[in-house]
Amino acid sequence: MIRIQELSKMYITPSSKTVALENVNLQIQQGDIFGIIGFSGAGKSTLIRCLNRLEEPDSGKIMIAGQDITAMNKKELQLARRKIGMIFQQFNLLDAKTVFENVAFPLQVSNYPKKQIKSRVEEILDLVGLANKSKAYPLQLSGGQKQRVGIARALSNEPSVLLSDEATSALDPQTTYSILELLKDINQKLGLTIVLITHELDVLKHICNHMAVIEHGKIVETGVVEKFFLNP
Ligand code: ADP
Ligand code: ADP
Repeated sequence: MIRIQELSKMYITPSSKTVALENVNLQIQQGDIFGIIGFSGAGKSTLIRCLNRLEEPDSGKIMIAGQDITAMNKKELQLARRKIGMIFQQFNLLDAKTVFENVAFPLQVSNYPKKQIKSRVEEILDLVGLANKSKAYPLQLSGGQKQRVGIARALSNEPSVLLSDEATSALDPQTTYSILELLKDINQKLGLTIVLITHELDVLKHICNHMAVIEHGKIVETGVVEKFFLNP
């Protein structure tokens, strides 16, 4: 489903050179919930942002659903991104738009059939448990509710992959738990692949099937999650 080959990325500023990713190789199966864990500065964010090219890798290749993401021009990338949803730590909602409008927005810009937008948005809001909040504004919502809007927006175009950039890091433990349960539910109902980055072991343990550990821009371990938590 996702194949990352020899991916490298360096940040160069006038005063420093940082190797953020060094020859990263990973394979992620269709329908998996795959977690990437590492300390702050390890390269997690850079890695996940390379998957939809919010960050441009210096070298290497990323295949998603048979398509070479790294070889795409702007137009091709725009189309491919509709099938790669993303959710963020700070939710990244449009505060001047209602919940309904936030979720409808990606559909409008992707020329989704106008007559079907309303029913599609209602369907997804229902899926994330926010059917009764469609007229609310983000600032009127709790953190957990905001992330549910983020998830709904990410799912609106029926992506095959959902990327999660520390999506529960700004939430309290109880809310984190409910969002992780929602992601699990979505993974099962829709069969979409989820790739998440986190610095929290509990998040991985709770929902991931497979995981990778990243340190200083390199993948140092990969495998099924249980392998990492067996007592010696
Ligand atoms: P996190 O560790 O949660 O990923 P960071 O504080 O590392 O967050 O990064 C926050 C933002 O700042 C990101 O957009 C990242 O690209 C940018 N950033 C991180 N480190 C640097 C740096 N050394 N110089 C410039 N920008 C940076
Ligand atoms: P993580 O998500 O694991 O915290 P990042 O991918 O954000 O790690 O960062 C990896 C390394 O790259 C860190 O050393 C960070 O400071 C650096 N970095 C990230 N973004 C930038 C940027 N825009 N400019 C310069 N350095 C950056």
